[in-house]
Amino acid sequence: MNRRDFIKLMASLGIGSALVLEGIDKIEAAADRVTDSKALQAKHWGMVIDVSKFKTAEDFQQVAAACHQYHNVPEIGNPQHEVKWIWQEDFEHTFAELESEYLSDKVQHMQFPVLCNHCENPACVRVCPTKATFKRADGIVAMDYHRCIGCRYCMAACPYGARSFNFFDPRSYIDQINSAVPTRTKGVVEKCTFCMERLDKGQQPVCVEASGGAIMFGDLDNPNSSVRQVLKDNFFIRRKVELGTGPSVYYIIGGGGASA
Ligand code: SF4
Ligand code: SF4
Repeated sequence: MNRRDFIKLMASLGIGSALVLEGIDKIEAAADRVTDSKALQAKHWGMVIDVSKFKTAEDFQQVAAACHQYHNVPEIGNPQHEVKWIWQEDFEHTFAELESEYLSDKVQHMQFPVLCNHCENPACVRVCPTKATFKRADGIVAMDYHRCIGCRYCMAACPYGARSFNFFDPRSYIDQINSAVPTRTKGVVEKCTFCMERLDKGQQPVCVEASGGAIMFGDLDNPNSSVRQVLKDNFFIRRKVELGTGPSVYYIIGGGGASA
């Protein structure tokens, strides 16, 4: 229940709104204090995906399933209306600009986990007429679902296809709803959030925990962070950097990296 609904309910029960507001403020202030003490914080959250550590299709499937289950992502069962936060693409569709006839078979046939890149210059944010999508101070490109009017300008602007539209009420397509995160409604756009609700509780993103070390997450602005150390020691690539979007997701290809 949101703040407005709660106030309405209290009013209908005959409880004065000033008293209610005072109560809410106290609860929210207490909640903020709890969150503040545990929250993981960064100046610029970023992700590193070591593709060589995804050995089998199941290795990735369990990561996607963990993300989608946690975030109440509906299983629509129709590719045309699919809703997805993290999925896989082959090299050609992930790094089209790096295609070469000399690319090794190994790299050519690799599957790459893809998701929202939480861009430094997000095209989706620029075009949203209601500010339903916005960039936070820590670099996360977030959504306020209540503001989304379903115009889909953000979907057209995103060069990574990272956003999905709810053509149907998604709640009918979720096996077991996780009450820790919101569900969406018909006509609303959604995408990966870098698990911002979990960061607030001091937890790593779900995909990081489920990946067994293949996905790393940390502060790109901190030279001592784990992600910066990994990037220092490995050859990496990012998607469509020539567009100037500044993706915050980095890929390590491992053994085949030098040929890409
Ligand atoms: S990947 Fe797409 S949806 Fe994500 S921040 Fe960049 S432009 Fe926006
Ligand atoms: S960061 Fe969270 S929301 Fe994004 S892909 Fe990973 S698990 Fe899913």
